[in-house]
Amino acid sequence: MKIQIKNQKDEPDQSKKKTTKAKIEKAKQKLGVKKAVSAKKPKVPAQAASELRQDPVTGDWVVIATGRAKRPEDFVNKEKEIEPPGSGDCPFCGDGLKKQKPDTLIYYREDGEWSLKVFPNLYPAFTRSQKISDRENGLFYSMDGSGYHEVIITRDHDRSVPFLLKEEVAEVIDAFKTRYLELMNRKSVNYIMYIENHGKESGASLVHPHWQMFAIPVVSPAVNLELDGAELFYNERKACVYCAMIEQEIKDGNRVVAENDAFIAIAPFASRSAFEVWILPKNHQPYFERIKEQDEFKVAELLKTVIEKYYWNLNDVPYNMYLHTSPCDGRDYYYYHWHIELLPKTAIWAGFELGTGIEISTIEPEKAAQYLRRKLSSA
Ligand SMILES: [Zn+2]
Ligand SMILES: [Zn+2]
Ligand SMILES: [Zn+2]
Repeated sequence: MKIQIKNQKDEPDQSKKKTTKAKIEKAKQKLGVKKAVSAKKPKVPAQAASELRQDPVTGDWVVIATGRAKRPEDFVNKEKEIEPPGSGDCPFCGDGLKKQKPDTLIYYREDGEWSLKVFPNLYPAFTRSQKISDRENGLFYSMDGSGYHEVIITRDHDRSVPFLLKEEVAEVIDAFKTRYLELMNRKSVNYIMYIENHGKESGASLVHPHWQMFAIPVVSPAVNLELDGAELFYNERKACVYCAMIEQEIKDGNRVVAENDAFIAIAPFASRSAFEVWILPKNHQPYFERIKEQDEFKVAELLKTVIEKYYWNLNDVPYNMYLHTSPCDGRDYYYYHWHIELLPKTAIWAGFELGTGIEISTIEPEKAAQYLRRKLSSA
């Protein structure tokens, strides 16, 4: 038998209620308001359980809340026109290119025309300087934004990654490595980050395929979190956390998006956004800049595959891509494992995400991986 507990305090005072109700009705009659009819209770759909998942490296939490979702197909923005704007005003085409700063690296095709260029950003977030000066004012500490901010472009305005040859993507990887080796020992450089913003919603202001390099004096909090997590794991278990992750992902299989003999692409267990993908070398490699030439092709192959899937299966979803590798500050990062992260822009960080640092993902990584593994929709 159910026991009902009455809470005297919570019982409304009936007399009070009556008088108030009567007063309101009287006032309404005066105003000519019809008697209020209480709204029908809306049907509440059955509550789907959400799941909190923890990133094994950083300890960060995410919420996989599929209650609000969504089949994989629902993430496809069907409204979006896929046609890129023309190359007329493009700063990386024709005359626009003449206004750029001198190239720091250039690759040529067999016919003598350039195929890839690297040059300093016209509006750099970090600028070259011989020495870094810093300032302290009581509680507040600051230093010069010294460093290098460069742009890497491929030649053709409307040939983004899905339309580049595997060899052309490998050239981008080779440019990353070459500039890395040239800048890693500079005084003001302790970390080098490569990124790609693709699509307006991801922050890309230009259609022309381009990547950016930031060579900066500080190691960022996001990277530090991974370094600390990887070091802790190594100290406790005498193993690399990323290698352990790859081993389990291969065994589990349900989050693997694609793989070849040297690299693997997975939808991480604690995915922060729908269709997030990481690409990792299968062998333990802390330093990206030590990548061998044949592996440049292999990572290019997987990168192209994943972005092709974003293009064909998710209607060219906007995404942010970045490369995480060990800092170049002279310390030994034997416990770290370089990788590429790709985050499609399918949601906006709102109050909960900003306030807690916990992202809400509305599709299980297992389902996302399954959807991405499918044959390309229209290729
Ligand atoms: Zn262009
Ligand atoms: Zn490893
Ligand atoms: Zn990372």
